[in-house]
Amino acid sequence: MIPPKIARANILRSLVLLLLLCLAASAALGDGETAPARDPKQPVDEAYTAKIHKYTTQPFFTSPLVDYLPASKNVPTPEVVLGDVAGAPGILPYAEDVYKYMRLLEKASPRVRVFSIGKTEEGREMIAVAVSSQENLKNLDENSAQLAKLADPRTIKLDDAEADRIVARSVPVYYITGTIHSPETGAPTALMELAYRLAVDESPYIREIREGMITLITPVVEVDGRDRMVDIYLWHLSHPKDFYPPLIYWGKYVAHDNNRDAMGMTLKLTENVLNTYVGWKAQVLHDLHESVPYLYDNTAGDGPFNAWVDPILTDEWEVMGWRNVSDMTKFGMPGVFTHGVFDTWSPGYLMFIAAMHNGISRLYETFGNGGADTLERTLEPEEYARTWYRQNPPLPKVMWSQRDNNNYEETGLLTSLHYFNENKQLFLKNFYLKAKRSITKPASEGPAAYIFPADDPRTDSQAELLHVLQKQAVEISRATAAFTVTLPAKKPAKPKKDAKEKDSKEKEALPAPTTREFPAGSYIVRMDQPYSRIADALLDYQYWSPEDPQKTPYDDTGWTFGELYGVQVTRITDPKVLNAPMERVKEIRAPGGVSGESTIYVINNNAEPSLATLRYKLRDASIEAAEEPFESAGKKFSRGSFLLRNVTRAQLNDAASELGLQAAPISAMPSVKTHPVRAARVAFVHTWLSTQAEGWWRIALDNLGIPYDYISTQTAAKTGDLNAKYDVILFPPVGFSSTTAIINGLPSGWGNPLPWKNTPETPNLVGNNDSTDDMRPGLGWEGVAHLKSFVEKGGVLLTATDTSQFALSIGLADGVSVGSAQKMKIVGSVVGTRLVDAASPIAYGYDEKLSAYCNNGPIFSLSSISGARNSRRLGAETHTRPTGRGTVDDPDFAIGRAGFEVPEEPKPEAWEAPPVTDEQMHNNFRVIPPANRARVIFRYADTKELLVSGLVEGGDEIAQHPAVVDVPTGSGHVVLFSINPVYRGETRGTYSLVLNTILNFDSLNAGRKLAEK
Ligand SMILES: [Zn+2]
Repeated sequence: MIPPKIARANILRSLVLLLLLCLAASAALGDGETAPARDPKQPVDEAYTAKIHKYTTQPFFTSPLVDYLPASKNVPTPEVVLGDVAGAPGILPYAEDVYKYMRLLEKASPRVRVFSIGKTEEGREMIAVAVSSQENLKNLDENSAQLAKLADPRTIKLDDAEADRIVARSVPVYYITGTIHSPETGAPTALMELAYRLAVDESPYIREIREGMITLITPVVEVDGRDRMVDIYLWHLSHPKDFYPPLIYWGKYVAHDNNRDAMGMTLKLTENVLNTYVGWKAQVLHDLHESVPYLYDNTAGDGPFNAWVDPILTDEWEVMGWRNVSDMTKFGMPGVFTHGVFDTWSPGYLMFIAAMHNGISRLYETFGNGGADTLERTLEPEEYARTWYRQNPPLPKVMWSQRDNNNYEETGLLTSLHYFNENKQLFLKNFYLKAKRSITKPASEGPAAYIFPADDPRTDSQAELLHVLQKQAVEISRATAAFTVTLPAKKPAKPKKDAKEKDSKEKEALPAPTTREFPAGSYIVRMDQPYSRIADALLDYQYWSPEDPQKTPYDDTGWTFGELYGVQVTRITDPKVLNAPMERVKEIRAPGGVSGESTIYVINNNAEPSLATLRYKLRDASIEAAEEPFESAGKKFSRGSFLLRNVTRAQLNDAASELGLQAAPISAMPSVKTHPVRAARVAFVHTWLSTQAEGWWRIALDNLGIPYDYISTQTAAKTGDLNAKYDVILFPPVGFSSTTAIINGLPSGWGNPLPWKNTPETPNLVGNNDSTDDMRPGLGWEGVAHLKSFVEKGGVLLTATDTSQFALSIGLADGVSVGSAQKMKIVGSVVGTRLVDAASPIAYGYDEKLSAYCNNGPIFSLSSISGARNSRRLGAETHTRPTGRGTVDDPDFAIGRAGFEVPEEPKPEAWEAPPVTDEQMHNNFRVIPPANRARVIFRYADTKELLVSGLVEGGDEIAQHPAVVDVPTGSGHVVLFSINPVYRGETRGTYSLVLNTILNFDSLNAGRKLAEK
């Protein structure tokens, strides 16, 4: 027998042991990690939980993490703002309501703080919500200072041991962003509820996340687009039987491409998210999208991977992605997978801000209904197919609700947060290591620096490109004295196979490294800085092999910013460059102003877009363009240089200083021919089909201060005399559109009108953009006639890519045809073009070589015969000599008669029209008179020089063909672009092709040489 006292103690001890065992059992899975389970002591919000169940369409579309809502006495649930639970059918909150809720949370809980992170183009606020323990939020500044040391290892002298100590005491930051794509509507409510759970839930699983890390949430990234989308949805609710208008505008400027701006940094939302990500020294940027059933974690995407990311990161993608799939598979949720069609080449995606700044980029595609309706959804066979990476695929046909979507989003995020927190020391150490490896780049893989030489004539575009790098948090230095670096030897040409013996002479002839001196004032982007990676990725060249197993690039394949900005950038591998005398610069401005006083001033033309800005800024000044190069006071000025009169020195100095233009006084007008440069009245035409591609043109013109009337094809159809109002009509690309669609618009055979205008239900639709009572009608034949008459009567119509095809297919310009590519693949690449007609005003300021953005053409060919399709290719084949005696170069030979002289065949270049033959001149009224023939300004480079960056396959089909053509039509001109000169804020170098057309609209024939016949 055991004495009672001891027995009681033993029993107590056993009870304690049992309790500990129970706790351990409930708190751990086999792997020692905390199980997802609610805290039994915390009451559940029963009413809210009942609705979660009600709106979830299948029991397996949820998880133990989100199938209940913990109750709180003082913290409000999303219901206070939504009037229902997150993900409820019919409920889509405006950004303002989401913010209202986040601020109620902040008020009620010391675990939530809301930060304003900037404004959108239309002035709406963007926010970031931090959720963590009260203690972590109290220590935000101290923690941020610690993370800053990991983010910039120079501050701890790259000391790994010190980094380990900082890692051990730091709290990481996981940044989640929602609804950048406005028709992907589920994230805001999921993130409202997620914030609530993270702040309130006492389950060990959630508590660990809260106490171990900071979750940072921007619930709405595209705020302008969100409000438009909610408008449309409300309109749909009040017109349930009608079709609702498609979301033609998201943000003020671009739609889906708002997730392609992380290179050019043109949009406010990109800048605000980047500043938040970098400012918080966050480790992860996780962006939420909705287009794939049911959760595609494209973190571990398909190849090729971006060549500038650290392999540490690509491993992190795999580790996190597959773990995420595993966790959700264990919950029994179907359709969760990673890997898939997304390649990780382009760094343009919002999430890639993290990949390029030493963090971890992640992206979810969940399944959305484009609104809050519950719908029966039917999938394509490839979507529900079981594949090696999708062992538990989605179902072919299901009822799907916004709540289902929210369940997936929240479950995915919570498991990710939990896994990240469990392994935060690893991820923080990786964060440090990736930053350290960015700093040691010059000594490891290189390069050591990129140099922007001070003697680049395009100082303003140079400054603009450096501003992009500054927005990317890249440090810029400036040489305080001239310095010299060694440039690597050019690769020797491959030795010929038959040259067996390499004698000593040949060895001597191998090219040696050269040196180059850069002047004082040159800008230097050092690669021994924490954010060297993004600078390297933007400034380097890209090569996408035609043999790559990835046959469908997800996005652009090339983007080299120096090339597309038209500025000189030199990649330097010589580490001595880092010892050049230099200082960090904060403010970068191109030098500008007036150097003296006169009544005449001259500004050299270097194809700087700011010249156009100047023209519109100095409305009263008289400006002429020199049609030939000239010299004045010992200085050389190129064609197109501005000669300014009727402007005071002070006025010109103000404007030129601001614009980075240098004006010089001259005593007399030069003797060269000149023509006036007028501030053309510009109409900018858009369709109601898509406004994305033209949005990039609009933002470029707005940023440059070029005024225009923004009109739709419908307005063009209603405006009888376009010449009375406009000198130039810009019709930028619609984006993969057809002539049929541009003319006919959207189908009108059934359904209601599709209004795009502000009404009490839709107060946000229009903003400062355009409106219509019905989006369906297109340009129509009336509009075609108006465009035709506009050009005939002297107007200038400028088109690019698909609108060029449109203009040609309806006969607005003669003598240009569009060929169809057989095997050509140029997928968003940088290609070489070559100047053909330097005397054309469109080419003013440009050099012989110009890089441009090209996405598969179109392929233009010229003809001097009206209405003819170019048949040059056929001709080349039939014009070869027939079978007969002699060699290939001998003329043919006939028995029994003397030989004859073969008339010489003129051999036109690929960009030229075949010369008109004598035969064609015999009463051939179809020959286009010389003055009306197309004039090629730029052509594509030869096949072997066509590829600058990206993918060019089958490039011979477009090589040497016209890239920019000016077709005189009636008294006016149609200027056709095969390249897209204005694209995603990346192509400043080709902007002036458009701006020159505008400024010289009434003198486009300047310098033109006509054919003799
Ligand atoms: Zn998306």
